[in-house]
Amino acid sequence: GTWTAEKVLEFIRERGIAYVDFRLVDLPGQWQHVTVPAAEVDLDTFRRGVPFDGSSVRGFRGIEESDMVMMPDPAAAFVDPFTAAPTLAIACDVYLPGARDRYERDPRFIAQKAEAYLRETGIADQSWWGPELEFFVFDEVRFGLGPNEAFHLVDSAEAAWNTGRPGGNGYQVRHKQGYFPVAPTDTMTDLRTEMCDELQRAGIRVERHHHEVATAGQAEINFAAGSLVQTADNVMAYKYIVRNVARRHGKTATFMPKPLYGDNGSGMHVHQSLSQNGTNLFWDENGYGHLSQLALHYIGGILYHAPALTAFTNPTTNSYRRLVPGYEAPVNLVFSKGNRSAAVRIPISIASPRSARIEFRTPDATANPYLAFAAMLMAGLDGIMNGIDPVALGYGPIDKNIYKLDGEERARIRSVPASLEESLRHLEEDHEFLLRGGVFTEEFLETWVDLKREEADAVRLRPHPAEFALFFDA
Ligand code: GLN
Ligand code: MG
Ligand code: MG
Ligand code: MG
Repeated sequence: GTWTAEKVLEFIRERGIAYVDFRLVDLPGQWQHVTVPAAEVDLDTFRRGVPFDGSSVRGFRGIEESDMVMMPDPAAAFVDPFTAAPTLAIACDVYLPGARDRYERDPRFIAQKAEAYLRETGIADQSWWGPELEFFVFDEVRFGLGPNEAFHLVDSAEAAWNTGRPGGNGYQVRHKQGYFPVAPTDTMTDLRTEMCDELQRAGIRVERHHHEVATAGQAEINFAAGSLVQTADNVMAYKYIVRNVARRHGKTATFMPKPLYGDNGSGMHVHQSLSQNGTNLFWDENGYGHLSQLALHYIGGILYHAPALTAFTNPTTNSYRRLVPGYEAPVNLVFSKGNRSAAVRIPISIASPRSARIEFRTPDATANPYLAFAAMLMAGLDGIMNGIDPVALGYGPIDKNIYKLDGEERARIRSVPASLEESLRHLEEDHEFLLRGGVFTEEFLETWVDLKREEADAVRLRPHPAEFALFFDA
């Protein structure tokens, strides 16, 4: 949290740390790393950084010189529990050669600029982020059979359901009823607990863990909300720890939004609020859902820009297989106090001046958290600065069951984009709000869209396994 370079060096000596692992975030949102013997790390390392070749890092292409620099952030260090040698992992900022200028495509830089811009506006001095990352755990051998295995898994679950034939230990989980009986139906308690142990050792405050709604193998671990960059750093550590604890047990964890056809997907709902001098600006005792006018305008900004936002919050082709009706993933661009099919939910059971917040349910954990949080903040701020009234614009509130509304009422409700291609087109048309304060740049957005179109094409241009089942004999 508040460590300085001196403090990190002291920690390295006292704890007998043998290696320091410097990590940067690439454009899609994965850690890349360089490891240095602790004896080679001194105050100078924190001033001059650690050189690396940026030419092969995903999304960092197009730079003239590849000799880039990772500048460690002493506030973002934790002991890596998965290395044989005692190793301290440190998140880094990316600098251009010479270590003076920041690199425009460093996602952490964009997140830091978003935090600075918020303070510049005078609207608030801090934003709060509480992401809920869901994930699946599979047996490595089972999942390792190939890309079609996901279909087989579901088929076999459905077959057991239809025939009443129990699973191996007799505790067959009924379809979508893995949420949330105790053991022996829940077989993942110890695994989730171990993940929580490691998260806490890494300095992340865990609030709870539980099985999720999918039939089997889906989990969620919640950690305390924090500031934007710090929480994005926590998301990186969370994914790293979840994946590697699973690996430790011969299992594999995935944050892919929809690994299984016909069952719940995995989301990353993001709770958010703004505060000024420690006062929560989203609270109003008398407002709808105890929310202030400012919070409503923030919601207005999120919903109005949601189609463009999804290019960052739901940035993979697989993201859009999750955003379909029937699985508690939001499809409707409305806000609501309780409705889980609404993109924005106001959690009222916990309403208090301290915890007043909104929950944007659309995102999933394939998002690069730095870019997604920054983009959501910019959308919310745009709502506040332009007084975007979500009620006047027809975004609700809708507290009835959306599927029971009459045809006309339902027809007025807008939906999230149906595909990555669609969301990228929205981003191209609607991104002025992201450029304010130089937080995002045109060049950056073009790079992002290019990268994501390449991925979209990689999927669009290939015959799909289901097409063989449907059309091979057509
Ligand atoms: N898995 C659901 C989603 O995709 C959410 C389920 C829940 O947290 N209630 O968003
Ligand atoms: Mg939750
Ligand atoms: Mg959940
Ligand atoms: Mg939630």
